[in-house]
Amino acid sequence: MLDLPKAFPDNGLAAAVKTDLLIGGDWRPGAGGKRIDVLDPSTGKVITTVADATVDDGLAAVAAAHEAGAKWAAVPPRQRGEILRRCFTLMTERAELFARLISLENGKAMPDARGEVAYAAEFFRWFSEEAVRLVGEMSVAPGGAYRILVEHQPIGVSVLVTPWNFPAAMATRKLAPALAAGCACILKPASETPLTAYAMAALMEEAGVPPGVVNVLTTSRSGPVVSAMLHDPRVRKLSFTGSTQVGRTLLKEAADCVVSCSMELGGNAPFVVFDDADLEKALDGAMVAKMRNGGEACTAANRFLVQKGIADDFAKGLASRMRALAMGPGYDDRSQVGPMINKAAVERLDGWVKEAAAEGAQILTGGEADLSSGFYYAPTVISGVRETARLLNDEIFGPVAPIAVFETVDEAVAMANRTEYGLIAYVYTEDLKKGLQVSERIEAGMVGLNRGLVSDPAAPFGGVKQSGLGREGGHHGIMEFCEIKYIATTW
Ligand code: NAD
Repeated sequence: MLDLPKAFPDNGLAAAVKTDLLIGGDWRPGAGGKRIDVLDPSTGKVITTVADATVDDGLAAVAAAHEAGAKWAAVPPRQRGEILRRCFTLMTERAELFARLISLENGKAMPDARGEVAYAAEFFRWFSEEAVRLVGEMSVAPGGAYRILVEHQPIGVSVLVTPWNFPAAMATRKLAPALAAGCACILKPASETPLTAYAMAALMEEAGVPPGVVNVLTTSRSGPVVSAMLHDPRVRKLSFTGSTQVGRTLLKEAADCVVSCSMELGGNAPFVVFDDADLEKALDGAMVAKMRNGGEACTAANRFLVQKGIADDFAKGLASRMRALAMGPGYDDRSQVGPMINKAAVERLDGWVKEAAAEGAQILTGGEADLSSGFYYAPTVISGVRETARLLNDEIFGPVAPIAVFETVDEAVAMANRTEYGLIAYVYTEDLKKGLQVSERIEAGMVGLNRGLVSDPAAPFGGVKQSGLGREGGHHGIMEFCEIKYIATTW
C-alpha cells in the first residue's frame, strides 16, 4: 500500500509499485518477515514499507541467479539485446511514472527526475546494441605452430549494489551490461530508494527477462547479507556504486573468494575557472555541475577553484543564480531544488558550513537548514574557504558551493589534485591548448572541458585514485561483466 502525499497525482503509480523481494521470479515478503520504512524526503513522512531481506534470502537469490544464469548465457546475443531494447521502450513509454516515483522516494526535483529516467533508459538501449558486439580475436602464434583464439564469456552471477542518489540510472548502468553479457544478477538497491528498483524489475519481467535472471532485494542488514553473497563461490562479480568508505570494506570482503570488483565511488570534483573563461558559459556549467540532483551526485562540482582576476565576478554571478532557485517538494512542478535525502544529511552539511563560516569564510547566499517539514538546505555559496575546511576536502553531496582562489596554472593543478579522490574535474578556459594540457594533468577519470555535464551511456564513466576501479558505459561497461577465454588450438 502506498500512502501518497496529498499534492501527488497518482497516475497509476500506486498500482505499479512492488514492495516485496524478487527472487527466482517470485515476489516474496522475505524469510524474517520484517519491513523497512520508506520515507518521502519532501515531507519526512513514511510512504510505505518494503521487505527486509535476511542472509537466507540473499543466498536464495544467489541460487536462483545461478540456476537461471546458465540458461541466460545460452540465449543468443541478438535475443538478449531485443529484450533489453523492450526494456528501453517500456521505460520510455512510462517515463513520467518513473520520474514521479524517483522524485517521491529520493526528493529530487521533477526536471532532474525526468533527466534521470531518460539517462537510465538509455543504458538499456546502448547495451541492447552492445550485446551483439562482443567481438573476439584470432591470431597465429608467433612460432606458427598453432592458433590463438580469444573469446568473451559471461563472468557469472553478479551482485550489484547501488546508492540512493540515482535510483534508476545506477541500477540500469549495471543491469543492462550484465544482461547483455549473459550474466544473471542480484540487485541490492539502497533502502532509502527501493521502489524504483522494484518497479524496474517488474518492467524487466514484462519485457521478457526470464525468472531468476534479475533478482532484487532490500535489506537493513547490508553488511551481513552482501558479505554472505560474496562468500558464496557461485558469485563471480561485484559491481558497487556508493561511498569510498563502503567500497573499501567490500573490496576486503570480495578478496576472500577473489571476486572480480568494479567500484564507482565518491568524488571531490574541482571546477577550475581561468581568467580567460567565458564567464556566462562558466556560470551555466557551474549550475549544472553543482545543482544537478540538488548537488547529490558523485559528479557534483565540490570545489570551485577560480583564478584571481575573475573570482569576484564569478562568485557574485554564482550567488545570484543560486539565490534565484525555487526550493520545495521535488514532485511540485514549481520546484527547481528538492529536499536532501534525510535529516542527517542536512545536519552534516549545516555543520560543515557553520564550521567554515566560524573560520572566516563568507556566506554569499543560503547557509540555512529547514527541517520543519522535510529535509531542506538552501542553495549556498561560500567564499574565502580555508584549504583545510571539510567543505574542500570531503564530499559535500548537497547544494553548497565553496569557492577558493588561485593565481597560476600550476597552483590550480596542485589544488585540484590535493585529494584522495579522482572521479571528475571541470575546466573552463577559452584557450583550448591550456584546457587540454590542464585536463591531462588533473588526476581524474573524467574531465568536462567547458562542459558541466559529461555522463553519457556511450562513454566510459569512472574514476582514478580512491574514486574507483573499472568503467561503466561505453564498450568498456560490458567488458566488466566478461571473462576473457583463450583457446590454443592446432589444426
Ligand atoms: P553508501 O556507500 O552508503 O551506500 C551505497 C550502497 O551500499 C547502498 O545500497 C547501501 O545500502 C550499501 N551498503 C552500505 N553499507 C554496506 C556494507 N557494509 N556492505 C554492503 N553494502 C553496503 O552510499 P550512498 O550514501 O547510498 O550514496 C552516496 C555515495 O555514492 C557518494 O559517496 C557518491 O559519490 C557515491 N556515488 C558514486 C557514483 C559513481 O559513479 N562513482 C555514482 C553515484 C553515487
